[in-house]
Amino acid sequence: MSKVWINGKLFDKAEAKISVFDHGLLYGDGVFEGIRIYAGKVFRLREHLDRLYESARHIFLEIPFSREQIAQAVLDTVQANAKQEGYIRLVVTRGPGTLGLDPRKCSEPQVIIIVDDISLYPPDSYEKGLRVITASVIRNHPNALNPRIKSLNYLNNILAKIEAERAGCPEAIMLNHNGEVAECTADNIFLVKHGILRTPHLAAGILEGVTRNLVLELAREAKIPVQETALTRHDVYSADECFLTGTAAEVAPIVECDGRPIGNGKPGPLTRQLRERFQQRVRQTT
Ligand code: PMP
Repeated sequence: MSKVWINGKLFDKAEAKISVFDHGLLYGDGVFEGIRIYAGKVFRLREHLDRLYESARHIFLEIPFSREQIAQAVLDTVQANAKQEGYIRLVVTRGPGTLGLDPRKCSEPQVIIIVDDISLYPPDSYEKGLRVITASVIRNHPNALNPRIKSLNYLNNILAKIEAERAGCPEAIMLNHNGEVAECTADNIFLVKHGILRTPHLAAGILEGVTRNLVLELAREAKIPVQETALTRHDVYSADECFLTGTAAEVAPIVECDGRPIGNGKPGPLTRQLRERFQQRVRQTT
């Protein structure tokens, strides 16, 4: 039986429970991270913890453990589950409170670490590529709920995901309040045009993905020119290649958007190259 860590203790999965009065449940009040385990090692834990603590700081949520304690708890939970390959969900909720929004009435944040498996898209999507639509629902306006916060409220993205599924596609591109390309429902997006790798800048109102940063790093190492910039749907339709990145999705080619084939309608060479470099890097032992 898998083990779940809650506030310092390991519980069997069936016994891992939190209160129905938790504001994480009642209001989506909390933050989280999704992290990968490759070859028995937790990948980029420091970067994920940086983002978790930044998200928490933004919403005035004080995590009742130090970064070192959380890092150790993650490693202990991975070990308790004897996982070599897998996915970690690290969640911090505001904790149990009263039936009103006031977070000051919540007694104690709940820190939860789940270790499990993940598979986002069918395996053949990585060979054939994904078809996407642009969703009619836009990404959260940064002055409403800043997408830099990885919060427990994913309704914005879930609405876009439902639109995609209803259109027969596994994924959607979300635009921002200016009509520019922001990101996918749980992944960042990249284009290739004339050999240049292009991705929306952070000012587009997106989550700063750990995988996005890794892909930018890999591209720079490979001397592939990179542009972080404003992008429009026209840039997507006229791109030579397109792919998305995320901890769960890794690097996945996109071959069609809104019924228009991207490039020749097949995963492109730079996408393949970056996917290979990505696979090598996550399995590097040093
Ligand atoms: N954008 C959104 C909205 C996300 O939820 C995620 C994470 N699933 C990403 C991008 C990708 O971030 P990362 O590479 O850190 O997983």
